[in-house]
Amino acid sequence: MDVWWESGTGEAVVCDAGMRGCPICSGTPPERRRFDLVVSYKYWQLFSLFGFVRNRQYSRVCSNCHNALNELIPKAELDSMLQGKKDPIPLLLRKGWMAWVALCVVGIGVAFYLSDQKSKDVAKHLASPRVGQIYLADLSKISNGYPSQPAYGPMKLVRIGNDGYHFVTARFSYDKKRGVDHDLSKMKSDSYYDTEDEDVVTREELTRLGNSGVIYDFVE
Ligand SMILES: [Zn+2]
Repeated sequence: MDVWWESGTGEAVVCDAGMRGCPICSGTPPERRRFDLVVSYKYWQLFSLFGFVRNRQYSRVCSNCHNALNELIPKAELDSMLQGKKDPIPLLLRKGWMAWVALCVVGIGVAFYLSDQKSKDVAKHLASPRVGQIYLADLSKISNGYPSQPAYGPMKLVRIGNDGYHFVTARFSYDKKRGVDHDLSKMKSDSYYDTEDEDVVTREELTRLGNSGVIYDFVE
């Protein structure tokens, strides 16, 4: 499961942190060393691309022995050191999550658009149904005999009478729409339906079932 995201730690030099004595390598008499301001951080990254950085810690690191001073840099001092400095952590690690959020928003928008288009198609189709047409619906909202909700499956228009549209519904149903998709080839056959029992739907009901998404698709 861990292949699509990874976490790790990183270190990067922010800027020069001045000259001072190093408790590890300066020796006696102490020689002054040049220090770097170094940021260490943890990151999460999705698909090696969309990153998120947390736990930034800044320390002064000796450029000679590469040991960090065991001291907390006061916030005000740190802020003034960071002033005008470029953040050395790679942009994708820091801001990648924003691109991910943007992609998700776009994805959701596209999904809404497509589902809106689909429901318009269904509505158009329901406006002039023809005998033999198969619709996909939550059958538990249309017909008795489906004890669990939802009960996704096909319904087939078998007759148009004065009392309304006569449908036969599937013998089997699914609690997920994708279950129905697996049966698309089988549902052309009459044996897929409970042909003993017809459900009659009026013109108004048919429109309402389409608009409310109970009838959510049709089979081409
Ligand atoms: Zn040192």
